[in-house]
Amino acid sequence: MSGLSYLCDYGDSEESDTENTKPKKVKLRTPDLSGVALIPIENHVDDPELHDGRYRTFPHVRGNWASYAYFKYPRETSLLNLIDKLQVALASVGEVSHKCDDLHISISKTVVLKYHMITTFTESLREAFAKFESFELSFDSVDVYVNEDNSRTFIALKADFFSNKFLLKSTQIVDEVLAAFSLPKYYDDPSFHMSIIWFNGDCKQKILELIEKLNKTLSKHTENNREIVLIHKVHCKIGNKYFQFQLD
Ligand code: AMP
Repeated sequence: MSGLSYLCDYGDSEESDTENTKPKKVKLRTPDLSGVALIPIENHVDDPELHDGRYRTFPHVRGNWASYAYFKYPRETSLLNLIDKLQVALASVGEVSHKCDDLHISISKTVVLKYHMITTFTESLREAFAKFESFELSFDSVDVYVNEDNSRTFIALKADFFSNKFLLKSTQIVDEVLAAFSLPKYYDDPSFHMSIIWFNGDCKQKILELIEKLNKTLSKHTENNREIVLIHKVHCKIGNKYFQFQLD
């Protein structure tokens, strides 16, 4: 039963009330909302102090759900060690670096869904990925990215040649689903990566001066720790809701 149907229940009770001459007190029963998806009431004040100086790329608008599709990467010890080493190598940038909390490879931009689109959208993704084969993911270099409004710079591990083939196919699948909802597709020249460290502002030029050093750090690390991860699920975040779909 949907939340709206519960509102209808209340409406009926009030109508029967008006038919009687004597006003009668009707005790409203407490609706069972356990099966109803709840929309969180968010704080509309964006305070960058609360999240390491980050500003929302999308201003919060009630009913707009910031959404993106991605593959999740495990937070394993060897990777966390590599992130520590890269953070040390980045000290000469002279800005505060932050570790990314959530390790993933995006396969869509962040788009805005309306609440009523969520079920159809996620069902379309589930169907579209049902025949997509699981694949091995690995990285072979370090690169630097800046977001679209130049407010953040990301140090990322770039997907290797073999992983790229699967990642490109996966964005084509997501793009088709997005097109059906008239939503923007991924980059024309996608560069598949997993962001691991970020800085506030545009520090790309400073970091490019260190790119050789960062790649040497990665090569040295991978001599003893070559990581290949099997990806068998695709994920989608819609507002504060997480969805995951099994690959073939
Ligand atoms: P992500 O870790 O997926 O959030 O990516 C970090 C940033 O890289 C995003 O804000 C993207 O806008 C940015 N980016 C810049 N150029 C590209 C590109 N060619 N392909 C993918 N992401 C890109």
